Amino acid sequence: MSNHKNFYINGTWVSPANVNDFNVIDPSTEEVCATISLGDQADTDAAVAAAKTAFPSWSSTTKSERLDLLRKILDVYDQRADDMAKAISAEMGAPIDMSRSSQVTSGNWHLEGFIKAFEEIELEHMFTDTERLIREPIGVCALITPWNWPMNQVMLKVIPALAAGCTVVLKPSEIAPLSSIVFSEIMDAAGVPAGVYNMVNGDGLGVGSQLSTHKDVDMVSFTGSTRAGIAISKAAADTLKRVSLELGGKGANLLFADADEKAAVRAGRHCFNNSGQSCNAPTRLLVERSIYDDVVEKVAEVANSTQVGPASDQGRHIGPVVSELQFNKIQDLIQAGIDEGARLVAGGTGRPDGLNRGYYVRPTVFADVNNTMTIAREEIFGPVLSVIPFDSEEEAIEIANDTVYGLTNYIQTSDQDRLRRVARQLRSGMVETNGRGFAKGSPFGGYKQSGNGREGGLFGLEEFLEIKAVSGWNA
Ligand code: NAD
Repeated sequence: MSNHKNFYINGTWVSPANVNDFNVIDPSTEEVCATISLGDQADTDAAVAAAKTAFPSWSSTTKSERLDLLRKILDVYDQRADDMAKAISAEMGAPIDMSRSSQVTSGNWHLEGFIKAFEEIELEHMFTDTERLIREPIGVCALITPWNWPMNQVMLKVIPALAAGCTVVLKPSEIAPLSSIVFSEIMDAAGVPAGVYNMVNGDGLGVGSQLSTHKDVDMVSFTGSTRAGIAISKAAADTLKRVSLELGGKGANLLFADADEKAAVRAGRHCFNNSGQSCNAPTRLLVERSIYDDVVEKVAEVANSTQVGPASDQGRHIGPVVSELQFNKIQDLIQAGIDEGARLVAGGTGRPDGLNRGYYVRPTVFADVNNTMTIAREEIFGPVLSVIPFDSEEEAIEIANDTVYGLTNYIQTSDQDRLRRVARQLRSGMVETNGRGFAKGSPFGGYKQSGNGREGGLFGLEEFLEIKAVSGWNA
């Protein structure tokens, strides 16, 4: 029987306290692909109570007991990879091959990173001859996730919380809840003790804000828009919860004239990946003037050759964007780019040729963008690239840092001295250079309005830990 309409609370699937149906729309077809329930206060209270009750026993389990459970979760996750890929594809439109090769595997990647970090972490040590420092779980955690990389974000929160000894209530995005239903089945099959992991579907104003204000929740870990991050921070302030935030971004990609010859193509592809729906997408391409025309031509060619189509089609195309709301927002921003005088060199408003239904956006490139334009300032969350010329290294750094965000910036140069000099001056949590990805367990997170948390590996574990100092502890 389908668990779509139920919540996972205290180790079992339960019906919602009150019926409040919500349709999940497949963005490739605009058809309803599932109906879930939105929870209300009674469901939130039941899930938080289960987590609170389970905390004393779970927090006193040993490191090796928790590691055994994480390894079991990884096993079952691998067994359910196909179901997970299909769920993600249907709910948010990732093409099925990409869903398998990137969306689902981002989950294993983080889980493996946490297992390694948790094996290595020292939870207790002597600070002086007579003082001991002990890292302990913070308590009951509310985990609120978005729709764009569903399993990536669920794993980045649930696994370190459980490893740390916390108990959790997950509220996935109501737009993409199907993957978290599969995930809850995985947690059940892996034998997670009752109450340690709970999942309630709901929207931001309902379950989201009930969790953020709940007196028995000790911490909220949130990924999503800066708007919701601010609302959650305010809601959590009255009970002084710890709030860990992963928010939006407007990454700059600094492409210098001495960059490798694939840098321009890489820049375009990276921006359009996942239909532009990544908070760390390099959406502002800053190009040294001497190679500017050539780069504009190359990224326009990448946009023109990027195929767009349904998630169920196999191949290396990009899918639709997630919802009608996002589609309309992206259309308005493309129009704003045109109205404000940026030069449209690929794509534009409307759907790609031959696609009349589904939230498909044309891969779009604007040249001659000025960093004050709306398309250079707002997170578009669609396949839209803004290209901006620069004349000097200092100017490039200034433009890159001239944003409220600070998640990921990118550098393309063959000059190691410049790479190091520029990387130090970019105000962001991550600087990716020359297409080299980050290691498993590397810290993911932002400066400024991109948030205040770090996820992944040791850094992600530390978010869920308190530190206790005990004196008079004779060695
Ligand atoms: P959102 O921030 O509205 O929603 C993300 C999650 O937060 C969902 O689970 C939602 O139900 C919940 N939520 C929303 N308002 C809340 C509130 N007041 N209190 C508690 N929980 C709340 O994001 P969205 O509507 O899914 O997307 C809108 C924009 O967010 C996008 O255009 C994009 O700019 C940004 N976004 C960023 C990321 C990221 O990883 N940084 C991910 C998704 C979306």
